[in-house]
This record gives sequence, C-alpha cells and structure tokens, in this order.
Amino acid sequence: MLADRSRLHIALQKSGRLSDLSRELLRDAGFRIQSSKNSLTARVENFPAELMFVRDDDIPTFVSDGVCEFGIVGENVLEEFALGENEQRYEVLAELGFGRCSLKLAAPESLAFDGPRSLAGARIATSYPRITARYLADQGIDATVVKMNGAVELAPRLQIANFICDLVSTGATLEANGLRPVETVLDSQAVLIRTRKPLDQKRAEIAAGLLSRVDGVLATKESKYIMLNATEESLEQITAILPGAEAPTIVPLHGRPGHFAVHAVCQESVFWETLQKLKGAGASAILVVPIEKMMM
Ligand code: ATP
Ligand code: ZN
Repeated sequence: MLADRSRLHIALQKSGRLSDLSRELLRDAGFRIQSSKNSLTARVENFPAELMFVRDDDIPTFVSDGVCEFGIVGENVLEEFALGENEQRYEVLAELGFGRCSLKLAAPESLAFDGPRSLAGARIATSYPRITARYLADQGIDATVVKMNGAVELAPRLQIANFICDLVSTGATLEANGLRPVETVLDSQAVLIRTRKPLDQKRAEIAAGLLSRVDGVLATKESKYIMLNATEESLEQITAILPGAEAPTIVPLHGRPGHFAVHAVCQESVFWETLQKLKGAGASAILVVPIEKMMM
C-alpha cells in the first residue's frame, strides 16, 4: 500500500460485521466515498482522506505503526492487540455505539459450572488468548488457554477444550452448538482510534476536521431540538427539566406578555416522561425535532 502523505488514511474492516456500519458513519459525517475498482482502497471525494480496507485484526497494527492515522475496530480486537504490546501506540477517540458484542465464557450444556473456580485445571479454547489469560489471572485461576483462529464453538465437541471464550451477541450460535454462556469477560463495541505518531501540521488540521465531523454525527444521534412555550414563572422549573441542555434560548412571545418561547438542544434522549414533566411544569406547544447536522 503506497500511502499518499498529503491525505489521511482510515483503516476500516474490508468485509464483515463492522464494514457497512463504519462506512455509514463516514457517510453520515458527509464523506463521499468513491467507489473504486481497486477494492483495497477508496478515496473520499470531498475530503483529503483515503480509506484502506483490511482485516479487522490488522487495524490496531496499522494505526499503531502510523500506516493509517485512523481506524475503526472492535474493542475486543484492540484489547487483544494491546495486551501483546509494551507501550500503547494508539489512542481511543470515541466509542461508536455499533458492533456491540461480548466476549463470554461458555460451557457445554452438560457440564456443571459453579463460578470461575470451575475453570481450574480446564482447557479453554479461544481466539482471544491474551484477554482470556488476563481474565484467568485476575480470578487467580490456573487453566490452559488453547488458541484457535475460528470455529471455536466446536472445540468442546472435538474434545480440544472443556470451555470456550468467544464473542457472543445473541447467543444463537452458542445454543446451536449445545453451549451456554456462563461468564462475561469483556463487553465490546466499535471505537475510533488514532495513531500516537505525531502528524505534520497539514494532516493534523485535516485530522481535526475529521474528528469534529465524527463528533457531530455521534452527538446528533442522541440529540434533539426542543421548542416549547412557557410562562415566566415556569421558566426556571422547565429549564431544569430539559435533559442535557445548556443555556437554552428564551425569547418573549409577540403579543403575549409574560409568555416565552424556549428553544434548546438536548444532548440526551428525550422521552415521553420528560415531555409529561415539562407539560406538568407549565410548558405548552412542545415540539421535539431531530437534528440533522451539528458542529460544536
Ligand atoms: P476479518 O476478516 O476482518 O478478520 P472477522 O471474521 O474477524 O473478520 P467479524 O465476524 O466480521 O470479524 O467481526 C468483526 C467485529 O465485529 C468483531 O471483532 C466484533 O468487534 C464485532 N462483532 C459484533 N457482533 C459480533 C458477533 N456476534 N460475533 C462476532 N463479532 C461481532
Ligand atoms: Zn478478524
């Protein structure tokens, strides 16, 4: 991969569970991704960045080495990588809210499990040997970790291991293999990471632009714009109820002395209960609208 140093390079999973959602995040941030015949890279048409499509396991290495300045990867993969490093050469910038799953210990239905102690002396098959070993060390348990690169859920049936430690989202795959989750070792989601290698000034500026756009997307996912009318006496109580709103705009209503319009960006989810509370406090004509774009 010959890197163009006037652009930022963002490592994304080529194909798999994170690919579509990673691209979607960038699209929501306004980046137009050029479709290219060369499926290993793609240019962003309207921003000086280039996407590199790789296996998710390679993303922490690429970002740590500075081959790619940014990357999107699951915390599970990142943590497994980090445990094998002497120093952390990347920085986690944001949790992205997708790719949620958990690394869980699972046991065959037929095998009794009575807390982590049941693991003593056992063999545990996993694609995450470092995270599993750390878990065992934290629990003070001596067991053998068997590294497998895939099809981990077959290990008990093949008598390679007694237990497995594998990624689970719904648990359907475990069940289909006669296994049940018994302990959660790590909860994971996709994160945006950045290299710790210093960037030259030009690319540092581009990076700041990228970050503020991604932050904007993440903020708008939760945020809502609230508009309501209120009387002067109720203003204090109403502004206290507005979830995650700083400094709402309050303007007098024309022709209705003592009445005000309150506008606010709420940085947290707005539930029906909140609206009921606002109404109870004296608000009327309450409108909640989604925010399409936001830059702080
Ligand atoms: P690659 O070819 O890139 O190495 P992979 O087979 O290792 O792909 P996927 O199965 O596509 O990876 O999963 C990518 C990431 O998606 C996982 O590392 C994890 O962070 C996340 N993920 C979310 N839900 C699940 C799930 N149910 N099972 C596995 N991974 C999940
Ligand atoms: Zn992988």
